[in-house]
Amino acid sequence: MVCRLNRRRDRLKGSLSEEGLSGALLTDPANIRYLCGFSGEGILAVGEALVLVTDPRYGEQAEEAQGCRVVVTRERLLDGLKEALKDGFWGERVGLEGSLPYGTYLRLLEVFPDVGWTKASCLEALRSVKDEGEIALIKEAARIGDRIFGELLSLLRPGVTEREVAAELVYRLHKEGEGSSFEPIVAFGPNSSKPHAAPSDRKLVEGEPVLVDFGVLRRGYASDMTRTFWFGEPEEEFVKVHSVILDAQSAALEAARPGMDVVELDGVARKVIEDAGYGENFGHGLGHGVGLEVHEPPRISPKGEGKLEEGMVFTVEPGIYLPGRWGVRTEDMVVLGRDGPEVITSSPKFVRIS
Ligand code: ZN
Ligand code: ZN
Repeated sequence: MVCRLNRRRDRLKGSLSEEGLSGALLTDPANIRYLCGFSGEGILAVGEALVLVTDPRYGEQAEEAQGCRVVVTRERLLDGLKEALKDGFWGERVGLEGSLPYGTYLRLLEVFPDVGWTKASCLEALRSVKDEGEIALIKEAARIGDRIFGELLSLLRPGVTEREVAAELVYRLHKEGEGSSFEPIVAFGPNSSKPHAAPSDRKLVEGEPVLVDFGVLRRGYASDMTRTFWFGEPEEEFVKVHSVILDAQSAALEAARPGMDVVELDGVARKVIEDAGYGENFGHGLGHGVGLEVHEPPRISPKGEGKLEEGMVFTVEPGIYLPGRWGVRTEDMVVLGRDGPEVITSSPKFVRIS
């Protein structure tokens, strides 16, 4: 673990100096966890060394932080940091990552008047390429998700509500994983046409689709997958749309390679959907990176930026939504290898259950 953390820090230092920065201040919990293993709340100063500042709520938990000086302060975190840092710790241009509340930013200018703050954008990019340890955890999370999906099917019977299924799902995500990586989506019938539907009291009836989208957490790492199928005898168009989605997904999986532009990969799946006449009904991006956060770079969409790299973990999730009727989305996770993607979610993609 320590040597993995060291490698991450070396990569960060390299990226910071490429950006002309002498240090960084990190406030995003995922970035802090990535660099020192601490899973609580705090701030991390990166300069000639790493200094983690947290408050007494996390005093004991801060033992999990590795390779950095830990300061537990009863003052405000920035004041605690100011006291802990030696003069010259940071140099002149220091990067700020993530988004900071404006009030905190003003306070930062007050506490460190001599530092030139600028945006550091390298951390998300660093995190988008996973190391072996991260990939192992994400695969574990995906495997647990597959198992839970199998259990979920036995809960589906006429009269069960979306909320009941979602609650059972969350219970299992906590019991078998370490929680839910986001609020699960369980949508029956026309609710499935809203890509981010919230579970309601709608009861399942025979002859309508079911869409489930959920993710597991495993030692901080997330998984994410979606399946859509018809409960009972499916409508003809549903069968067609379901197969268009699978074709779009397969086309993207076949095309994905390191070095490919993310917009191009999105376009491969989008073209299959457009050619089938449903271009207007696919309103979101094809996929997103998954790691310490369930949505992180790369963003694989028409508005995305950058290229795919070996070691990236991302979703491939084309969808077609017919407002007022139903929607179909299939989402799998992949690890991108040198020659193409390895799909790490393996739940069946059947078109119907009964
Ligand atoms: Zn999802
Ligand atoms: Zn997703």
